[in-house]
Order: sequence, then C-alpha cells, then structure tokens
Amino acid sequence: MIVGVPKESFPGERRVALIPGVLPNLKKLGLDAVIESGAGLEAGYPDAQYAEKGAKVLPDRKSVFATADIITQVLCYGSNDKTGKADLPLMKRDQVLIGFLRPFGSREVLQEIANAGVMAFSVELMPRTTRAQNMDALSSMATACGYKAVLIAADVLPRFYPMLTTAAGTITPARVLILGVGVAGLQAIATARRLGAIVTAYDVRPVVKEQVQSLGARFLELPIEAKDAQDARGYATAQDESFYAKQRELLGRAVAENDVVICTAVVPGKKAPTLVTAEMVRGMQPGSVIVDLAAERGGNCELTKVDETIVVNGVTIIGKINLASTVPYHSSSLYARNLTAFLEHLVKGGKLQIDASDEITRETMLTRGGQIVHPRVREVFALPPLTAPANV
Ligand code: NAD
Repeated sequence: MIVGVPKESFPGERRVALIPGVLPNLKKLGLDAVIESGAGLEAGYPDAQYAEKGAKVLPDRKSVFATADIITQVLCYGSNDKTGKADLPLMKRDQVLIGFLRPFGSREVLQEIANAGVMAFSVELMPRTTRAQNMDALSSMATACGYKAVLIAADVLPRFYPMLTTAAGTITPARVLILGVGVAGLQAIATARRLGAIVTAYDVRPVVKEQVQSLGARFLELPIEAKDAQDARGYATAQDESFYAKQRELLGRAVAENDVVICTAVVPGKKAPTLVTAEMVRGMQPGSVIVDLAAERGGNCELTKVDETIVVNGVTIIGKINLASTVPYHSSSLYARNLTAFLEHLVKGGKLQIDASDEITRETMLTRGGQIVHPRVREVFALPPLTAPANV
C-alpha cells in the first residue's frame, strides 16, 4: 500500500503530515510513501531527505492523490476552509484520508467529503485514553501552542521575564497568569517558569492544582466551585452564565496584578467562556500582554480579534491562530509520530484492518461508503442514527 503526503495548501501553513524520520517505521508496516515535491520544505524537511528514506517525490498534488491508498494531511478539507475544496475532485473512492477535518464544523462540507467516497479519519476525535496517547495530535499541537504563546508574549512585553541582579540594580521578574490548565496551559506554565517568570494558573477543574504546583507555579483558588467541573473524558463542562459572571468578578484582581495573561480555556462544542472583560483590560498596567489561544473558539478575552493583534489602553491583545504552524519542524515531527502510531494501529501485514469494534478506529472514523458514520457527529448535525453499517 502507498501512503501519500500532499503539500499543505492552507495559506501560511508550514507543517507537513509526515517527516522523513518516520518512513522506516511505515516501511515496516508495508507502506511505501509518495510525497508532493516541496511538501516538507517549510518545516525544514527537503525532498532529498524523503528520497533518502525511500520515498518517491512526485511533481504535483494530483499525482499524489492518484497514486496513494492513504492520504495524510495536517489540514484536510473541513479544517482547511480556504483552499481545501480543491482536493475534493482528486479524492478516490475508498481512499483513506487522515488529518484534521473539523468534525463538528460544517455538515455540508462533511457530506461533500463523504460523497467523494473516502474513508476519512479525524484526528480531533482521537479518544483521550492511555492506549491512544501516542496518537493524540490535539495534545501535540496544544503543546506547541502553549510554548509559543509565552514566547510571543515575551517578544511584545516591554519587560524581562526573569529576575536580574545587575550592577545597575535588580529587575523584578514578570508575572504571568495562565487561564485554563489543559495541555496548552501546562506547557505555557512550564515555558514561562523556564524563562524565570512568577507564574499563577487557574482552571475550573480543581484536579489540576497539583499539576500546577508540581511545575513551580501557584494555583489560584477562587471561592466558587463549578458544578461537576469535569466530565468523564476529563474535559471541562459548560457552566451557566451566573457562574462565569462570578468568575470574572473574582478574576479581576489577578488579571490586574499580572503582566502577561495567557488564555487557553475552552469547553468542547461550546463558545469559549469570556473570562477577561474590556473593563478588566482597562485595569491592567500599560505594556501588559494578553495572548488568547481561545481566539478561534470565540476568545476568553472580550476584546480579542481573531488572528489580529490590537492594542487597547496600552495593553496588547494577541489573537493569533494556528500557532503550531509557527514551530513547524517540531510540530510536524510530533504530528508525524502521532500519525505513524495511528497507522500502526490501522495497518497490519501491509493491509488495512478496519475493525469497527475497536474503540480507536470507531471513534475516529468520520466518513465511510458515502456517509457520515460517526454517531456523535450525526447527533450534533441532527442526522438519524445509521441502521445498517456503511458499505465500503
Ligand atoms: P481543553 O483544550 O479542552 O481546555 C483547556 C482547559 O480550559 C481545560 O483544562 C479546561 O478545564 C479549562 N477551562 C474550561 N472552562 C474554563 C473556565 N471557565 N475557567 C477556567 N478554565 C476553564 O483541554 P485539553 O488540553 O484538551 O485537556 C482536556 C482534558 O483531557 C484534561 O483533563 C487533560 O488532562 C486530558 N487529557 C488526557 C489525555 C490522555 O489521557 N491521553 C491527553 C490529553 C489530555
């Protein structure tokens, strides 16, 4: 079987789905690779390195889709709402497609992908279980985002992060507040600590307190308790507006006391909660910085503008999206390893082994045989449950 890697086409995207280093592992599975010329260039992986590991470099995208049994992408049509549609006519019936597909985005787009006849697997739907940990692309990308958020804040901040003792006097360390302590928040804490900042972190899920403290940060305790803060999968649950209003009131002082606020708080399937209001921004010192990683999901700061940087009363608010793409070498490397682990799961003895009773396969499969097959996705789009299994 042949696995194909088209060049990412989303404007500004610099990642690549597979890197040369994973090709020997794929070969062991009985998978040969074809790469669109230049696919890895922006991430730091030139064609020659793929060729050295046995991949065939093809001149154009069309030939990659025509040759491959399995297409791996970072942003497939679905998550690539700018240029992804151009891939539809290139897809082949029964071809496997793996990547970010935005499974809860647009029903029409998902149906178009299903109509192309491909068996699409969405990496966003990977279960957060120990067994699937090495396939968890969301965690890999969140790690990159959390890291980079702290660095872009450092770049704009008119202060040093660490405490400095110099002949000209002592510099006090910067104060960094992290709102939301999932994978991105934990990486942001670790990065800010390494740079010497004083870090405080807050999450609606009290179970993260110990993780925050183990990274050398202070956990901000607020005198309110979320109802059933965490669901069975470990995600935060949505709270009512009175809870969020109380949260904002209590967070006001912490926001005003910090030089940098990194926002990462999201709730699956919901608009991100507003944690920092315009009034709270007015209470911050001029020169302070907010990096809102929740920008694409509606933002944790009321003033955030998606993919823009604005300055309000001297406070810089950064809503840049797709930060993982700005660390393309390592983001691609982590993603490629996630996909390789997933392919090791799907391919046995050089053949696809689709076992619908297996949790990882079942939970990630989005389309098959012309239909959207994922039960939760069907439910969200008010599609009736499937009675007969989709034919391949
Ligand atoms: P996420 O991106 O869904 O959310 C980020 C954080 O925002 C979460 O910690 C959430 O609690 C927090 N949040 C939501 N609303 C908030 C509010 N109003 N105020 C403050 N904070 C708020 O999170 P994630 O990084 O995807 O992680 C979700 C869960 O999955 C965590 O429990 C994590 O430990 C777990 N996880 C497990 C695995 C695994 O076992 N393989 C892998 C990755 C993550």
